[in-house]
Amino acid sequence: MPSSNPLLEVRVPVPFDEVRAEHIEPAVDTLLVRAQEALDAIVASPSPRTYASTLGALDLATNELDYATGLASHFESVLGTPQLREAFAAVTPKVTTFYSQILLSEPLYRSLRELDATEEAKGLDPARRRYLTKTLADFRRNGAELDAIGKKRLGDIDVALSELTLKFAQNVVDATASFELLVDEADVARLEGLPEGAIAAAKKSAEGKGKSGYRFTLQAPSYGPVMTFLRDRGLRETLYRAQVSRASGKGPGGPERDNTAIIKDVVALRREKATLLGFAHFADLVTDDRMAKSGKEAMAFVTMLRDRLQPGFERENAELAAFATKHGHQGNLEPWDISYWAETQRRALFDFDEETLRPYFPLDRVTRGLFEVATSLYGITIERDAAAPAWHEDVTAWAVLDSDGKRLGGFYLDLFPRETKRDGAWMGAVVDRLPGTTHELENVAVVVGNLTPPRGPGQPALLNHREVETLFHEFGHMMHHVLSEVPIRSLAGTRVPSDFVELPSMIMENWCWESAALDRFARHGETGAPIPADVKERMLAARTYRAANALIRQLGFSTVDLLLHTVYDPKEHGDVMEYARAVFGRFSPVPLGSDYAMLASFSHLFGSAYGYAAGYYSYQWSEVLAADAFGRFREGGILSREVGDRFRRTILARGETDDPAVLYRAFLGRDPDVGALLTRLGIAA
Ligand SMILES: [Zn+2]
Repeated sequence: MPSSNPLLEVRVPVPFDEVRAEHIEPAVDTLLVRAQEALDAIVASPSPRTYASTLGALDLATNELDYATGLASHFESVLGTPQLREAFAAVTPKVTTFYSQILLSEPLYRSLRELDATEEAKGLDPARRRYLTKTLADFRRNGAELDAIGKKRLGDIDVALSELTLKFAQNVVDATASFELLVDEADVARLEGLPEGAIAAAKKSAEGKGKSGYRFTLQAPSYGPVMTFLRDRGLRETLYRAQVSRASGKGPGGPERDNTAIIKDVVALRREKATLLGFAHFADLVTDDRMAKSGKEAMAFVTMLRDRLQPGFERENAELAAFATKHGHQGNLEPWDISYWAETQRRALFDFDEETLRPYFPLDRVTRGLFEVATSLYGITIERDAAAPAWHEDVTAWAVLDSDGKRLGGFYLDLFPRETKRDGAWMGAVVDRLPGTTHELENVAVVVGNLTPPRGPGQPALLNHREVETLFHEFGHMMHHVLSEVPIRSLAGTRVPSDFVELPSMIMENWCWESAALDRFARHGETGAPIPADVKERMLAARTYRAANALIRQLGFSTVDLLLHTVYDPKEHGDVMEYARAVFGRFSPVPLGSDYAMLASFSHLFGSAYGYAAGYYSYQWSEVLAADAFGRFREGGILSREVGDRFRRTILARGETDDPAVLYRAFLGRDPDVGALLTRLGIAA
């Protein structure tokens, strides 16, 4: 046992290089005791209750515990060694029980209601007043008014959900990693169409496993190019079928990594929880404090958008089918043909190949350009932070300084795939600044991705445009956290409703699609030349290509999500996987196969206790907000400091210190409108 445990106190720079699996459980055990003491002190605080002794203390009571468990989760996600997994799994139930008991505590609830009745509470500033109102509602939504039996059941449900969903996420990682497809050296002709970079990566991947030939996996940088470029239909089909059936018991992962039963249990437990709390269904429980306000409203939004897109969706599908037939495709298009023919059609229509752009997106230039955009908009400076230790040699650390030189915080970039790292991309908040409080530190964040790595030592990582977009997106989340000026932890940074949280990230994506911004960072890695004007023009024009399909696909995910968390009932609708497949099918350009089981790897819904469950619609909701808000930048200049400062002041700095609808109006001067998004998609508004 090490004498000093780096997880016991919040430290900046965060000692990422010191944390070991064996620190996790002892630290969490100690911090659980300390957090409980802090909660007990709130209850014991003398009358009359004050903000500082009750709600203010509650805001900070779990600061250290959140930090330690946040780091444990981070290490489990990015390193995922068996020791880390085991340590994280060991603390997860205790921590979940603890958190769910906070909101179940009768004495705590009583203390806050006593505060609510004081003169001080009536005179609180709007942010603290909002925090009090929201906290009381949180308590009610978490069963504060239930009897003892109800509370016990609720606690058990939360523990079960966190265990089941952790297992779900691990099954997805393991099932994904269990699959490989090897193509013999002698069969290299089968790789026709595949970009040179993808072929080199497949060779390197095989070598890494001590094998010859070419190795393909279900990880995005390997899977994506195969589906998009490879001529060989048979290989595409094999990879596609593996991808959509992983962790379903019938595909990669096998029966040991089958998520089917987990999904059934999770949906049932969520429904039970909602009923226990007096909501019609889980979607109503989740949306109660969101912008949408109810499951019905969320569903109405999804249906409205789908109806607007339907004619465009059908037109795009008919055009693709006709194009494929004309160019020699026999029979109907199958799911594994869509990306390939879409890319072929896109090239024919716009005459540019996504892969030819890679040399213009070397990671270091892209990040530098991204930081310059942030400087133009917000007046901040981002520089390397050589003193901050990291958790892996690929990780880089950065400091964020305000225009007056004051250090606001820092962030880390961990951008390349590793075998035991979770897939996807995300931003994680690690430390909060809390300006003007006794806990004032810095805002610290991690930005994690699985982008195309360098081909070899000393070579640059060359990204495709979608990866550039992902980087901008996560950077936007990071700005929301790092530029937060909120002194109340619970309302700071990205702790906002999930149908609002994607606004700062999605709006950032727009800068990868603006000529003036692209010229700053899209430069050839060797020659420094910008993307040739005609290529850039065609690339930007291609943004609306099959835009209805892209959004309909997302709306399909949202619809499955909302249906599972509102009306779905196994007695009436039968097997959950088949039910979901039928719904997904209504949003697919071609019929789906009977092995389609994408639900089994849908980590957004089932990879954490709540995650994006009944909230996937938030992405499209935020997309409407972001497209509409970006219009202000388009009017005022896309690198306008004035508009940037306004966005920073009204949105990024404010967390949830006011109703998101009010914050949005403060920036834009009106309510959101769907027109800007439809126009951007090339669909008449
Ligand atoms: Zn996001």
